[in-house]
Amino acid sequence: MSETTVHHRACHLCEAICGLTIQTEVERILSIKGDPLDPFSRGHICPKAVALQDIQHDPDRLRRPMRRQGTQWQAIEWDDAFALVAERLAEIRERHGSNAVAVYQGNPSVHNYGLMTHSNYFLGLLKTRNRFSATSVDQLPHHLISYLMYGHGLLLPVPDIDHTDFMLILGGNPLASNGSIMTVPDVEKRLKTLRARGGTLVVVDPRRSETAAIADRHLFVRPGQDAALLFGLLNTLFEEGLTRATPLPVDGLVEVRAAIA
Ligand code: SF4
Repeated sequence: MSETTVHHRACHLCEAICGLTIQTEVERILSIKGDPLDPFSRGHICPKAVALQDIQHDPDRLRRPMRRQGTQWQAIEWDDAFALVAERLAEIRERHGSNAVAVYQGNPSVHNYGLMTHSNYFLGLLKTRNRFSATSVDQLPHHLISYLMYGHGLLLPVPDIDHTDFMLILGGNPLASNGSIMTVPDVEKRLKTLRARGGTLVVVDPRRSETAAIADRHLFVRPGQDAALLFGLLNTLFEEGLTRATPLPVDGLVEVRAAIA
């Protein structure tokens, strides 16, 4: 009888990066479970990670580079595949310019450290303006604000969900997203724990989202009115003297205050 092995891995399918224990027998996966010893995800798992074994064992899964020849597909060696891609990419760029190449990056590419550390260099070298990703409809404003406020698009403040007393969520639905740029596996338990320790959860959303449904308070805003709501919040902070002086060099506060009023 062959031996079983337990592997400790992280699920890269979404930002929650849950710890997994994967039991295998030779090449066959026997089970995929949440890892209770992972200090971050604490045993949480969702059906997507359990289904990873379906991808692993899918008979249609591509295991080698395939080259199309007419209507047929032919398996080729990795070295030949890389050589072919390099040759064709260079040819296309030479003939039609850098922008003839378009790039799309999906969410899991940032949960893969090879891609995370190397893809930007490669994409930079391609020099194409046609770069598409989920980022542009997801967190690009977040990157821009971090760049403007802290000097780098990746200096992203992360809410301390496990220690906060009051959590205000504007338009986010972490129960569905696991917290975009927040990385919160098992967010439902974390939000319930916040409330159990006496904290308050307020969700502002035009829709009664899954997160709004477990909040202390759900504030419906009309779609497109969130800027007015934020101005109202800032105005109250200024009007009621709830702001405090900052040692940080901040320009234009007087003008901002006047504009908000
Ligand atoms: S929430 Fe699901 S998909 Fe996301 S990392 Fe955890 S197990 Fe994977």
